[in-house]
Amino acid sequence: MEEIKMVDLKGQYDKIKPEVDNAIQNVIDTSSFIKGSQVHEFQKELERFLSVKHVIACGNGTDALQIALMSLNLKPGDEIITSDFTFIATAEVIALLGLKPVLIDVDPNTFNLDVNKVEKAITDKTKAIIPVHLFGQCADMNSLIKLAEKYNLYIIEDAAQALGADYKVNQTSTKKAGTIGNIGCTSFFPSKNLGCFGDGGAIFTNDDDLYEKISAIANHGMRKKYYHELIGVNSRLDNIQAAILRVKLKHLQQYNFARQKAADFYDNAFINNPKFQIPFRSRYSSHIFHQYTLMTKNIDRDKLQEHFKSKGIPSMVYYPVPIHKQEAFKDFIFSHDDFLVTENLCKKVISLPMHTELSEKQLNYIVDNVNEATCIL
Ligand SMILES: *Cc1c(COP(=O)(O)O)cnc(C)c1O
Repeated sequence: MEEIKMVDLKGQYDKIKPEVDNAIQNVIDTSSFIKGSQVHEFQKELERFLSVKHVIACGNGTDALQIALMSLNLKPGDEIITSDFTFIATAEVIALLGLKPVLIDVDPNTFNLDVNKVEKAITDKTKAIIPVHLFGQCADMNSLIKLAEKYNLYIIEDAAQALGADYKVNQTSTKKAGTIGNIGCTSFFPSKNLGCFGDGGAIFTNDDDLYEKISAIANHGMRKKYYHELIGVNSRLDNIQAAILRVKLKHLQQYNFARQKAADFYDNAFINNPKFQIPFRSRYSSHIFHQYTLMTKNIDRDKLQEHFKSKGIPSMVYYPVPIHKQEAFKDFIFSHDDFLVTENLCKKVISLPMHTELSEKQLNYIVDNVNEATCIL
């Protein structure tokens, strides 16, 4: 059996190698590395895939979030609501811009923003909400949009882990993650569901004014060459990455399907194991399993991980520390009592290998050993 990896980028590459190599070579042959046609074409193709009016490619997912916030005319001290249970980037950009991160506990089932707690945290300084579609499943966007309308707030979606997930807006229609709020952000970090061979990111919006502003901010605040209207940043996707992403975007549906198949296999194997709670599937969103994350019950997670490791099964904890407990956020005052769900999750979650190349043999080996471990530990 092939070595089991948390993420298997090499296995995925091997299957599309001629196409990818050719795409890279073409960029090198044209020597147009920055702001070339590949980026332009990729943006158009992603717009079509997402059914969104504008895609602006940028340097990475963190930049995407920062630029999105920069486009909203915010003042220092304005409050931005986001999840306490996320990758640091989501909260980091808020603090970096001199805004105030207002962290909110998550729903114990979906691990996404708890909407009831969001409403309680809204003040007259609140300007935006950043829901994170964690592990590949959309947050409760309809409820958040209702709140945003009621209190006149922007919604920036952090769709870094959910590119391609479908959100059911009503009985008859769906929208793609990242295209539901005012602005969506994603990352093309190599291990993301759509990953390039380095850093990359993108911003989505249906709003023409925001599009103009975001495009300018990502390019040194410049609309006309060497005339700078805004303070911007330098954040670009390069042509080689765009060429690779164009090849991989064609496979994204199938990649997400492969993840879902592996997740179904895991679910079936663990649903009756009393030591685990399998991932919750909401009725309003598909789940594209950027991560397959179990909640452990009454079992020592460290010992479990050690045991998996001894069997050649990698596992990870996303995330071991809530944002409110991070050293870098110590100057913001948070109360432990406000984050009981997140604190519990940080102690109990464990993510299993999840990628597009898991074979049935590997999956069988993983589930047998995982279930066995919970009996002997
Ligand atoms: C990966 C990730 C980001 C940041 O993306 P980078 O491209 O690494 O900057 C932001 N938010 C979430 C939830 C992520 O998983």
